[in-house]
Amino acid sequence: MLKIDGIVYTYYTKSIPHPYHFSLEADKGEVIGILGESGSGKSTMLDLIAGFLEPDSGSILLDGEAILPLPIERRPVTILFQQHNLFEHLSVKKNILLGISPNGKSTAETDTRISQILQEMGLSEHIDKLPSALSGGQQQRVALARALLRKKPVLLLDEPFSGLDRKTRLEMLSLVQTITQRERLHTIMVTHQTEDCELIADRVYKMKNGTLLPSNPDFLQEKA
Ligand code: ADP
Ligand code: MG
Repeated sequence: MLKIDGIVYTYYTKSIPHPYHFSLEADKGEVIGILGESGSGKSTMLDLIAGFLEPDSGSILLDGEAILPLPIERRPVTILFQQHNLFEHLSVKKNILLGISPNGKSTAETDTRISQILQEMGLSEHIDKLPSALSGGQQQRVALARALLRKKPVLLLDEPFSGLDRKTRLEMLSLVQTITQRERLHTIMVTHQTEDCELIADRVYKMKNGTLLPSNPDFLQEKA
């Protein structure tokens, strides 16, 4: 269980405070959907969980262990952004390798793991290509493949599929759902699209002016 409890974060513009408040829980194998207008604080929330920002108070427990004291690189978290998830000057293989081997050295074991995951993701033929030679959907698939091999139990998605065409987006959502259930991940998916939540979210919250509100039963009928 991922239990985020009473996180508060405040930033100031000209001494005017802008507070954020959120709490949420995600079970293993669950996708939590986060909707909300642009500028409402969705990315800030993910940045606080990932460790790019430090909250003023509150706690985040994963299976009872506090993760806020951990530095970014030791947090049990992977985050995928809308763009720039890959190093543009490195091949698909090297991009994935950097995720699983801190010194970037390949071994027979890393080679096998990389070929297996690329095969599973339908990317085998692209192993030596640069990201720029791939479509947007394929690039995000590579980033997901790397996230999978890293085996971090918390997967944060910051609108990574919003730039893709609908068909590709739906394929990626289905992949996220499969991976989340199979690997028993806690996935928090920020999206602009109600449809994304209807399709794969087990529960939905809405971010409004920095405060996270639980979804109500009619929520999915509203247009975000
Ligand atoms: P969303 O992802 O929902 O679009 P964000 O989390 O990116 O929203 O941002 C919320 C707003 O708060 C943005 O306008 C952002 O610039 C602002 N903001 C968040 N944290 C800070 C900070 N530490 N300093 C200045 N502005 C911030
Ligand atoms: Mg954002």
